[in-house]
Amino acid sequence: MKTVTIVIPFYNEESGLRDFYISLASTLKELPAFGFEMLFVNDGSSDNGLKLVEKLATKDPRVSYIDLSRNYGKEVAMTAGFDYAKGDAVIVIDADLQQPPAVIKEMIYYWQQGFDDVYAIRKERLGEKKTKIWFSKTYYRLLGKMTQEKVYPNAGDFRLLDRKVVDALSSMREQARYTKGLYGWVGFKKKAITYIAQPRKSGITKWSFSKLLKLAVNGLTAYTTVPLRVSTYMGVLVSFFGFIYMLIVLFQKISGLGDVSGYASLMIGILLLGGVQMISLGVIGEYLARMFMETKHRPLYFIEDYHTHDEKKKR
Ligand code: UDP
Ligand code: MG
Repeated sequence: MKTVTIVIPFYNEESGLRDFYISLASTLKELPAFGFEMLFVNDGSSDNGLKLVEKLATKDPRVSYIDLSRNYGKEVAMTAGFDYAKGDAVIVIDADLQQPPAVIKEMIYYWQQGFDDVYAIRKERLGEKKTKIWFSKTYYRLLGKMTQEKVYPNAGDFRLLDRKVVDALSSMREQARYTKGLYGWVGFKKKAITYIAQPRKSGITKWSFSKLLKLAVNGLTAYTTVPLRVSTYMGVLVSFFGFIYMLIVLFQKISGLGDVSGYASLMIGILLLGGVQMISLGVIGEYLARMFMETKHRPLYFIEDYHTHDEKKKR
C-alpha cells in the first residue's frame, strides 16, 4: 500500500485545529486505498495547540508530530516536515482550513497518473484584503520577469510532492529559504489544479506586513542576482549622463557661452549620486549578509520532541 504524509505546519492555531483534523480525517476516509500519516509541525506556538495534537495522537495512530524548539517560520517548519515525513508522497496543507482538504483527492489522482508535483492554484481568494492581493500580484509579476523558472503567483505550498521531489527539497539546506522558488528549481513533472481559497475559519493570519516584506526581499535575493545587475545598470546610466553633462559644462567654460552654474547642479549631482551609491551598497550588503548567514552552516532548526506511532521508524 502506498503511503502519503500530510504535513501540517501550525503556529497558534489552537482554535481551529480540531475542526481541521475532523475535516481532514473525513477526506482521508474517502481514500481507503492509501495509508496516511498526519504530520503536525508545531512551529513554536504559544497556545495549547500542541496539547490538542498530543491528545489526537493517543487516539489516532496516523497522527505524528514534531515540536520545534521555537517559532522558525512556515518555510522552516515545512522543511522539518519534509525531513521527517515517511510517506511515498507528501502533501503540505495549512491548518486554518483556507485550503480545503477535499482537494487532496484530486492531487492523489494526478499523482497516480505519474505526476511528481501536483500544485493547487487559488482561483479565488475569499476573505482577503484587495490591497494584499494587489501587492502579491505585482510582486510575482516582477519576480517572474527576473527569473527563468516560473514562480506561479497563485500557487502556494498547497501541493502534493512525490518522494523524489521531497528528497530533492530536503537536500537543499540553505538558510534563506524560499520554497516557492525551489519547487520550480528542482523541476520534475508538474501538474496544476485549481481550488477556491476559503476565508480563515478561526484565528488570525500570521503574516504581518513586515513579515511579508521580509519574505518578498528574501525571495528576490535568495533566488536571483538580478538586483545586483540592476545596480550595475543604474551605475552605467548615471555615469553616462554624468559624462554628457561634463562635456556640456566644459564646453560652456571654455567657450565662455553661458554661465557655468554652481550650487544647483552641484547639489543635484551629489544627492543623486549619493542616493544611487547608497542603494547599490544596500543591495551588495543584502547579498553579503546572505553569504554570512549561509557560511555558518547552522542546522535549519532544532526539535524539542518527535512522536510517531510506528516506533521502528522513529529517527
Ligand atoms: N505558520 C507557521 N509558522 C509561522 C506562520 C504561519 O507554521 O510562523 C502556519 C500557519 O499556522 C498556517 C500556515 O502556516 O497553518 C499559513 O499561515 P497563515 O494562514 O497565517 O497565512 P495566510 O493563509 O494568511 O497566507
Ligand atoms: Mg491561511
